[in-house]
Amino acid sequence: MCGIFSTVHSEDEINQFKKLEHLSKLSESRGKEASGLLLMSKDKKIQTFYSENTISKLIKINRPILKNTLNSFDFYIGHTRIVTHGVENESDNKQPVNFNDTFLVHNGICVNYKEIWNKLNLDNEVELDSKSIAALIDLNIDNNIFDILSNQVSGETSIIGYNKKNNKLFAYTNTGSLYFVFDNNKVKYLASEKHTLLKLSDAKNIKKIEPNSGIFFNPKGELESTFLSKKNETIIHKRSRPKKLQETKELKFVPNLIRCVNCILPETVPFISFDSRGLCNFCINYKQITLQDLKIFEDTLDSMRRSDHEHDSIVSFSGGRDSAYGLHLLATKYNMNPLAVSYDWGVLSDLGRLNQSIMTSKLGVEHIWFSADIKEKRNNVHKNLIAWLKRPEFGMIPILMAGDKMWLEVANLVGKQNNIKNIFFFENKLERTYFKQGFAGLKPRFNSKNVNGLELLDSLKLINYYALNFVRNPSYLNSSLVDSVKGLKSYIFRKNNYLYPYNSIPWDEEKINKTLIEKYGWLADEESTTTWRLGDGTTPFYNYLYFLKKGFTENDFLRSWQINEGVMSRDEALNKTLNDNQPNFRGIKDYLNLVGLDYKETIDTISNIPSNLDWN
Ligand SMILES: [Zn+2]
Repeated sequence: MCGIFSTVHSEDEINQFKKLEHLSKLSESRGKEASGLLLMSKDKKIQTFYSENTISKLIKINRPILKNTLNSFDFYIGHTRIVTHGVENESDNKQPVNFNDTFLVHNGICVNYKEIWNKLNLDNEVELDSKSIAALIDLNIDNNIFDILSNQVSGETSIIGYNKKNNKLFAYTNTGSLYFVFDNNKVKYLASEKHTLLKLSDAKNIKKIEPNSGIFFNPKGELESTFLSKKNETIIHKRSRPKKLQETKELKFVPNLIRCVNCILPETVPFISFDSRGLCNFCINYKQITLQDLKIFEDTLDSMRRSDHEHDSIVSFSGGRDSAYGLHLLATKYNMNPLAVSYDWGVLSDLGRLNQSIMTSKLGVEHIWFSADIKEKRNNVHKNLIAWLKRPEFGMIPILMAGDKMWLEVANLVGKQNNIKNIFFFENKLERTYFKQGFAGLKPRFNSKNVNGLELLDSLKLINYYALNFVRNPSYLNSSLVDSVKGLKSYIFRKNNYLYPYNSIPWDEEKINKTLIEKYGWLADEESTTTWRLGDGTTPFYNYLYFLKKGFTENDFLRSWQINEGVMSRDEALNKTLNDNQPNFRGIKDYLNLVGLDYKETIDTISNIPSNLDWN
């Protein structure tokens, strides 16, 4: 979510300004929305620079002064960020943060920052999680501070900082997302990713700071002490659980629809048909999931593990339950050393971010963030949503998600940068939602062997459908078009060599929820009964559209497959689905806020979209 970096001056390094540019540029892939830099000159003067823009721009604007100061300086600490808590231009919300004598940059999210602040008996409210960490360190600087951090901070935390009173720098991480160059017995550079430092140093001089450990060094770069603290296993943040299920008759929105007698798919699903018994074509053509031999999967894992402590795999880490559980399995049960990789294109929910933070810190798994230009991506969604509302076509809803399709390229890029070939994608086999393409005129292909992509004919049909809609609704022809087309291309030609563990591991929804919530304190959405797609901020919105106008959502599909798999009764499935489909207005509000649309106006526009649905 953020990139942090630092350089300590050393006589043998030349052209420090170029190196600052390099460190900044590479750290920027982790966050482009705001940036900051703290610079300590030789005469012990601290200068800070902040920008509501990328770190590259910050450096460009301050080029003369930075160039001059870097001729003779002690150290600098930099930060490049995605906005998580708070607003990016709030004056209190800038990094590096300061509390008394302590200055630091923080990558991650501290989940229990308010509790920490209160426990320290500090006045006023705290707005920024990083500020709580700075306070915790400042007030304990003479104690065993790294132990205190490991035992009190819940959530992903990697920091680089400086304490003026002791004239010492420090670096700490609870996930292992921090590296430093140690050359000639001196700490020279620090960064969130090893890849960043490879351009500045030989690989042999790059050291990883292990999870739950930290270092102290002085402004000359001399390492004074290293600590490895005991991992804290207890959950210390406030938990949240999903909303309790209600009886169907108590629910506010229940559509009156004919449904299949076996599954619960309703008559409004594209290309659904019922036979004389009332059985739908999705059930008639349903093929039970056959899992691949678990032993083969486990043997594959055996062949991947490395003896040199380097990462053996990448986990596509979305912030949703399936990838979170997958990360748990790999890191604990299978003793793998995965690197969690997340891609943020601007509509990840806060809960998703918090849960990623909780999981990686509890597991001590290094987490790489790749951030798109979030302002631009949100602006793209804004334009496409306005276009969609002008002429609502249900087959065009996926255009709102075009921005996330870059994920495939990101996983490959991070794999290449870190020399990792194995990429895990925790997508469960019950996620087939034929209707999204169905609304675009694509018939369900029950016998397709092409599990990850579309048949050629369907690809052409889909391209044709989009082209036709672009002509009919020229509002789509906005600056987001290139992005939309890229997304479509990536979706259609989705070919990859990823590993899909749920092809071998049984997907057990109850077990997944129980493990995540009880063992990790994973946060559920208290406004919703479902834990599915919690990380995706778009979900409450598109499900609202489908449910309000067509009477069903992807939940109807998931539960119908569960009925067909024999893991859920029809009554239970129907009740759960109707509960899960109830509009999550808070989630919708959050989403519209992110993409810059007025809530009331948008809800009013949606209510005017024609629909034949009858409500109980
Ligand atoms: Zn059916």
